[in-house]
Amino acid sequence: MPLIIVSGLPTSGKTTRAKQLHDYLSARIAETQPPKYRLHLISDDSLSISRAVYDLSPDTVRLHTRSANSSEKDARAALYGAVKRVLSERDIVILDGLNYIKGWRYQLHCEAKAMRTPNCILRVACPVDQARQVNEERRRRRQDTTEHHGESAPEAYEPANWDNLVFRYEEPNPMTRWDSPLFAVLWDDDEAQTKRTFDDLWDAMAGEGRKVVKPNQ
Ligand code: ADP
Ligand code: MG
Repeated sequence: MPLIIVSGLPTSGKTTRAKQLHDYLSARIAETQPPKYRLHLISDDSLSISRAVYDLSPDTVRLHTRSANSSEKDARAALYGAVKRVLSERDIVILDGLNYIKGWRYQLHCEAKAMRTPNCILRVACPVDQARQVNEERRRRRQDTTEHHGESAPEAYEPANWDNLVFRYEEPNPMTRWDSPLFAVLWDDDEAQTKRTFDDLWDAMAGEGRKVVKPNQ
C-alpha cells in the first residue's frame, strides 16, 4: 500500500499522531492472516536528522556549508532514500515530518505512483499559538535537563527557526492530485474521532475504496 505523508506545523503533534496511526494500522494489518502489508514509520528522529537542518538564519547556514551532512537538502535526500528503499504495493510507509514544501510532496507522490501504490496526506492541524507553546515548553525542559545533567528532553527548535518554518509552511491543497486524498486530525480530536479519521484513511488506502494506480495517469 501506500505512502502516508504526515504534514503540519513544527511541534503541532505530528509524531504523536503518527505513532497513533502506526498502532492503529498494526492492528488492522494483523486482522488478516497472513498479513497483507508490512508497516514502516520513517521520521527525522528515526534517521537522526536534527531540527537545526531547517534553520535558515545566516549563522546557521554558514555552519551548514561547512558540514556537508547537515543541510535540509541532504536531510530530504536521506528521507527520500529511506522511503524509496521500502515503498511497494505491500508496504505501508508513514512519513512523519513537516513535509511543508509543495514540490517535495509532489516528488513523493510521483515516487508512490512509480511504485504503483497510492499516497495520501495526514494533515495534523493545530492552532499556531498552541504549537508555539509546545516548542517553548520543550526549550525550557531542554535547558533544565542540560543544567541538571538529567535525561535529555526531546529536541526543540530555535525560536527564529520555528517562526520561519511556520512562515514557509505550504498548506496541503486537496484540490491537487498529489495532496489528495487528505485526512485531517485536529489537536482536540478525541480517540473516537481520531479512529473515525483513521478508518476513512484505511478504507481509501487499503480497503474497498482503494483506487487503482496506473503508471501514466
Ligand atoms: P511534532 O512531532 O509535531 O513536533 P509531537 O507529537 O512531538 O509534535 O508533540 C509535541 C508535544 O505535544 C508532545 O509533548 C505531545 O505529548 C503533545 N501533544 C501532541 N499532540 C497532542 C494533542 N492532540 N493533545 C495534547 N497534547 C498533544
Ligand atoms: Mg515530530
